[in-house]
Amino acid sequence: MNDTASAEAVATRTEQFDVLIVGAGISGIGGAYHLTKQCPGTSFVALESQASFGGTWITHRYPGIRSDSDLHTFGYRFKPWRGPPIATAEQILGYMGEVIEENDLGHHIRYRHMIHSAEWSSETNLWTITASRTDTGETTRFTARFLWMCQGYYRHSEGYTPHWDGMETFKGRVVHPQIWPKDLDYRDKKVVVIGSGATAATLIPAIASDVAHITMLQRSPTYFRAARNANDLADMLRELKIDETWIHEIVRRKILHDQDAFTRRTFEEPEAVKRELIDAVRAYLGPDYDVDTHFTPSYRPWRQRLAFVPDGDLFASIRSGKASVVTDEIERFTETGLLLKSGKTLEADIIITATGFDLCVLGDIDFTIDGKPLVFSDTVTYRGMMFTGIPNMAWVFGYFRASWTLRADLVADFVCRLLNHMKQKGARRVSVALQHADKDMPLLPWIDTENFNPGYVLRGMHLLPRRVNKPEWQHSQDFWAEKDEFPAIDLDDEVFVYA
Ligand SMILES: Cc1cc2nc3c(=O)[nH]c(=O)nc-3n(C[C@H](O)[C@H](O)[C@H](O)COP(=O)(O)OP(=O)(O)OC[C@H]3O[C@@H](n4cnc5c(N)ncnc54)[C@H](O)[C@@H]3O)c2cc1C
Repeated sequence: MNDTASAEAVATRTEQFDVLIVGAGISGIGGAYHLTKQCPGTSFVALESQASFGGTWITHRYPGIRSDSDLHTFGYRFKPWRGPPIATAEQILGYMGEVIEENDLGHHIRYRHMIHSAEWSSETNLWTITASRTDTGETTRFTARFLWMCQGYYRHSEGYTPHWDGMETFKGRVVHPQIWPKDLDYRDKKVVVIGSGATAATLIPAIASDVAHITMLQRSPTYFRAARNANDLADMLRELKIDETWIHEIVRRKILHDQDAFTRRTFEEPEAVKRELIDAVRAYLGPDYDVDTHFTPSYRPWRQRLAFVPDGDLFASIRSGKASVVTDEIERFTETGLLLKSGKTLEADIIITATGFDLCVLGDIDFTIDGKPLVFSDTVTYRGMMFTGIPNMAWVFGYFRASWTLRADLVADFVCRLLNHMKQKGARRVSVALQHADKDMPLLPWIDTENFNPGYVLRGMHLLPRRVNKPEWQHSQDFWAEKDEFPAIDLDDEVFVYA
């Protein structure tokens, strides 16, 4: 250490914790809850770069922002959800706020702490985490025995916007929904939304009645599922005055049962499912609408996330004439809008790029292991939670085809069990290692893109860990298998190496 660095180390107080949680989104808050319940006596801190909790649900502030999966399963296993299945960001933040309050988690969370580096030392069996305060610029330092990565999967500071020719010539405003400008006045304006995923499907009905016209421009169609934003079973159980805790459990089981059946059908009879989904859209839009061009995807349902349309609101906007869909490709931006590959033009005052996220797998934190920079893509994933060569660390990445939080809860149970096991054994370090017989198996990309292939994963595959063709060395997207497999993991199995 040189003189300046040692002076800085003295000046910067180092706080010590058993566990350090990165992020105070739904996964980080869930982790904090589970630690207090399942590992009492464990000291921990959650560091969050933003000014409050919520993660995704405070980052995204575009009009209409809401969940696209139901809150009975997106909500935590341990806290009943009492509202309608699809919830606004505000409702989700309210729910998370209650979890923090009811369980006295607030004093464990440090806001405005942006973590820059995490250094593992096998000598001390500790992580040293360096963060800077986003308000004062002060450097803060922590050591932790265990690092729980709840950083989400995308860069919060910016969205993904592809470059198109002529963008700089456009005289109107280009806006990414992730960074929604507070002053954006869209009233009576011509608006084009590029993209047709969940964000477009949310935003369009939220502003359609205020704009002059809004066009959803897509290169290719997306599958949508439209249904009433209500859960009949929950409503019935409420009418019968059943306890909310029971309602939560029963409704979750029913939803998960139905989702399992639906997911299976998308593999077993994709054509039938495709027809059903498209017919449902046709029923909303009427027989004269060109559903074949605009709402008939070429891929198998569920290869990309299915966008849910509560109460068919997107389709109501289209029927009202305020919104329309164009399926075409952008040739280039012009001063007044877009020139499309077909030769058509779209006039616009505002162009909204609902083009997705920038994958960010480790929260933009520089990791080193015993002084060597970590290359995450050189590691092999152990069930999408731990990685070869990274000791005392767990990572939360939720489901694509089921609610994220289902996995956050399962991973939390695993982490707590692992921490308790280490305590019992007197172990200071745990890592996962491929068995000798598995070492020569080919390393495959993180996920099979035949199975699931959203754009941000395809763009970021080179950043992600590898898998081996064995169940424990894969990141499965199967809640229905993992809900039984995770609790049954033998922590004394040879894959776990303790020291
Ligand atoms: C608009 C939108 C809607 C979605 N809807 C659904 C849905 O309905 N259902 C579903 O299952 N999934 C949905 N998702 C996926 C969603 O991101 C997850 O479900 C979930 O909210 C992720 O929670 P998280 O806590 O793991 O991560 P995040 O919500 O991403 O939170 C991570 C937190 O970590 C913080 N952080 C990251 N890096 C650092 C660092 N270096 N230092 C300090 N803090 C850091 C971030 O500031 C952030 O607050 C949606 C995603 C988006 C973008």
